[in-house]
Amino acid sequence: MIFLQNYQNGGLTPPLSAQYLACTNPATGEVFAQIPNSQAQDVQQAVENAEKAFPLWASTKAEERSKILLKIADLIEENFEKFALAETTDNGKPLALAKRMDIPRAAANLRFFATAILHTQAEAYFTDNQALNYVLHQPLGVVACISPWNLPLYLFTWKIAPALAAGNCVIAKPSEITPYTAYLFSEICIAAGLPAGVLTVLHGLGSEVGEALVKHPKIKAISFTGGTQTGKHIATIAAPLFKKVSLELGGKNATIVFASADFEQAVSMAVKAAFTNQGQICLCGSRILVEKPIYEKFKAAFVAKVKALKVGDPLQDVDLGAVVSAQHFAKVLSYIALAKQEGGKVLCGGEAIQLRGRCENGYFIAPTVIEGLDQYCRTNQEEIFGAVATLQPFETEAQAIDMANATPYGLAASVWTTQLQQAHRVAAKLDSGIIWINCWLLRDLRTPFGGMKQSGVGREGGMEALHFFTETKNVCVSMY
Ligand code: NAD
Repeated sequence: MIFLQNYQNGGLTPPLSAQYLACTNPATGEVFAQIPNSQAQDVQQAVENAEKAFPLWASTKAEERSKILLKIADLIEENFEKFALAETTDNGKPLALAKRMDIPRAAANLRFFATAILHTQAEAYFTDNQALNYVLHQPLGVVACISPWNLPLYLFTWKIAPALAAGNCVIAKPSEITPYTAYLFSEICIAAGLPAGVLTVLHGLGSEVGEALVKHPKIKAISFTGGTQTGKHIATIAAPLFKKVSLELGGKNATIVFASADFEQAVSMAVKAAFTNQGQICLCGSRILVEKPIYEKFKAAFVAKVKALKVGDPLQDVDLGAVVSAQHFAKVLSYIALAKQEGGKVLCGGEAIQLRGRCENGYFIAPTVIEGLDQYCRTNQEEIFGAVATLQPFETEAQAIDMANATPYGLAASVWTTQLQQAHRVAAKLDSGIIWINCWLLRDLRTPFGGMKQSGVGREGGMEALHFFTETKNVCVSMY
């Protein structure tokens, strides 16, 4: 049994309450760690430490801040195997995926913002021979970063890297379901020489320590990634306190396949988009809209590929590992039952998988494809966040756009077509923050990232993230 600790005032410390919560490996169903059940008192201590650390960190030269963040990125890579195994143990994702995606991206997040701050520019405006206006972007002070369980270290670092790079002191709260890599990250921050109080990592429940962070009057900004309902709740607390809030929330993304698409590429990428990470990526394409002339052919090829996906022990060579928790396992299965009640026909999957041996008590679900449902049923409106995809035919480009836009969400869409003009036309009309044309999950960290409608408020990535974590100030100097 591992006892994780908070990262508080430069060291690893138990929570003030001395209370712990169990943390389960979803592939085996076994409790493998105890994590601090931090409370408002831990938040208070963290704020005091961060306020003490802030003046020095904010005035540390960008080059020095950059060096420390680059050192942390190096240490992630030096401990690559350890981080990847921890991510899989906590989350249930295939080890190969953690190695290919989560851990390299965490190091890349640190490097991206560590070097971005060496190349920033200040805007200036010369005003009619009368004045010179320039713009300062100054760190906010103490900020909170709250992250979810699906891409634990990837999203944790995606938030804290720009916040720290911009000169803020950060109190971070990883998901209580997947805290392990954030704990290992604390260890390497100490080794990298990050000054005490610059980063605090508090483990515990969203309703306790998470909410205490949102409510704390000294915390100037909340960067949150998680569910739409949680985001709505956080917004109601933060708004009257006039905090800056960035909310990256749920999605119900469409994959739109036109008849002109490169067929093989569209089929294999639609499978990846639907089922990578057990369908537990906010950007997964769970509604696959296919132009009628190729619908039957696409369906046959898609279902054949999905049936060939291997589900099993995430430490083995598999395509899908375990679903993150018993609770989420029950939720995904309940949506499959709902889809059937709504008249959906299950083309493959549709059930839990019982493994033998090490993983006999794990939470595994067969990748599931459903057809015959209308766009407005709950299955096609609500975020399932699991390996469940629906297929729907469409007849015209306008209908495809209407169907893609017909949910409360607006995070991402991918469009498969070889018609150049159609690609641009459709991209302009989709209500989503990210549109991929003939690709999926291809990311350039300089681009703005975020959603429309109930997928969130604000944008992360590149300068958007650095600006979020700074206060913008206009200085107007009269020339007379
Ligand atoms: P969640 O909302 O349950 O939890 C997210 C984080 O918020 C966790 O750390 C949790 O402890 C904390 N939290 C919960 N209640 C809180 C409260 N009252 N105050 C403060 N913090 C609180 O989400 P989840 O189940 O961990 O993650 C899955 C969701 O995240 C999905 O909806 C998914 O689409 C979304 N997501 C969005 C993006 C994006 O970039 N848009 C990326 C990944 C995941």
